Amino acid sequence: MNLDLGERERVFRQEARAWLSEHVPRTPLPNMDTPRGFAAHREWEATLAADRWSVVSWPREYLGRGASLLEWVLFEEEYYRAGGPARVAQNGISLLAPIIFGYGTVEQRERYLRPMADGAEIWAQAWSEPEAGSDLAALRSTAVRDDTRGGWVLNGQKTWSSRAAFAHRGFGLFRSDPSAGRHRGLTYFLFPLDADGVTVRPIRKLDGHPGFAEIFFTDVFVPDADVLGEPGDGWRVAMSTAGDERGLSLRSPGRFRAAADRLVGLWRERGGGAPALGERVADAWIAAQAYRLYTFATVTRLAAGGDVGAEGSVNKIFWSELDVHLHETALDLLGPEAELHGDWMDGYLFALAGPIYAGTNEIQRNIVAERLLGLPRGNR
Ligand SMILES: Cc1cc2nc3c(=O)[nH]c(=O)nc-3n(C[C@H](O)[C@H](O)[C@H](O)COP(=O)(O)OP(=O)(O)OC[C@H]3O[C@@H](n4cnc5c(N)ncnc54)[C@H](O)[C@@H]3O)c2cc1C
Repeated sequence: MNLDLGERERVFRQEARAWLSEHVPRTPLPNMDTPRGFAAHREWEATLAADRWSVVSWPREYLGRGASLLEWVLFEEEYYRAGGPARVAQNGISLLAPIIFGYGTVEQRERYLRPMADGAEIWAQAWSEPEAGSDLAALRSTAVRDDTRGGWVLNGQKTWSSRAAFAHRGFGLFRSDPSAGRHRGLTYFLFPLDADGVTVRPIRKLDGHPGFAEIFFTDVFVPDADVLGEPGDGWRVAMSTAGDERGLSLRSPGRFRAAADRLVGLWRERGGGAPALGERVADAWIAAQAYRLYTFATVTRLAAGGDVGAEGSVNKIFWSELDVHLHETALDLLGPEAELHGDWMDGYLFALAGPIYAGTNEIQRNIVAERLLGLPRGNR
């Protein structure tokens, strides 16, 4: 792997840095899980998209820049270095869009990608169900064929759907053929969250804001035009991005590098502290650098035609544990003052969820053990 950047990448990075230093809001936006914060974050998505910085790796016709994967990583590094806001459009951009590009019809691309890129439509991922989280293939929400109307009728319940309290549309899996095996007979649907028969019930997170929602479906009609991929092929379609979510797109290294730099800054500002704490600061910084290098290795492999595969699980465990470690160290440095420094405390509360979402770390360890190390399957 050659870590020297070419002229094209250097120019791209410089351009991104200049734009971000001029446009990133000076004061943090309000929490995106409040009505005011949600609106402010959508406006920020529109600002990014207006100058083609919202989805740099997408083709130009969908508001992107046709940037390479390496350029995307560089952009992310600049974004977090500049203190860019969390992305309210993240679920759509990183989990749904790759599927629309890979499996969507031309019409679906035309209809959904631009409003996703500029924040006009925010999407929620509706995969988990009360009895189907780690064991996602156990999902029970159903889709029944309606030939007369040319579509499907959805019933059931989803849960833990981030952003769904305010989002416009959802994407999720439904059991369309109950006689097929667990992983077969699932279909991937797109639907509006204000459709007849959809009830969204917000769930408050530790910080008191409705960061997720339950979604109930009672005879919700979805036309054939909103089936993504082939009916019955939903599992394969969905899994084509799950590896990316764990391994690359959801947590780009720029985020942890920026947090590690802030942690070092906090350590300096405090004039140091117990040596053991200093070691933890150094460990966090080194781990953030290691994660960065590992990502460059992944990007190099993907550019050569490889895929993320089961190694995404190694990444997932690494970034989620690094995030907890980083924030715990900051809170220990701050001592009782931690309560007064909202951003470190908020970051800590969110970091605690990292080992759970995008597939729990216990499940990721199973995948590493079985698929990468060839160890026997555990008892379950
Ligand atoms: C912040 C956050 C955001 C989320 N956003 C979304 C979203 O937008 N859309 C969405 O669909 N879902 C979302 N989720 C849900 C998330 O994907 C699930 O919480 C996760 O997959 C775990 O499922 P579960 O909660 O049903 O727990 P369970 O599957 O019931 O697991 C409970 C515990 O048992 C362990 N366990 C289960 N099976 C095994 C096994 N075979 N071997 C070892 N250990 C096992 C798990 O690791 C876990 O510790 C989000 C969750 C969080 C915390």
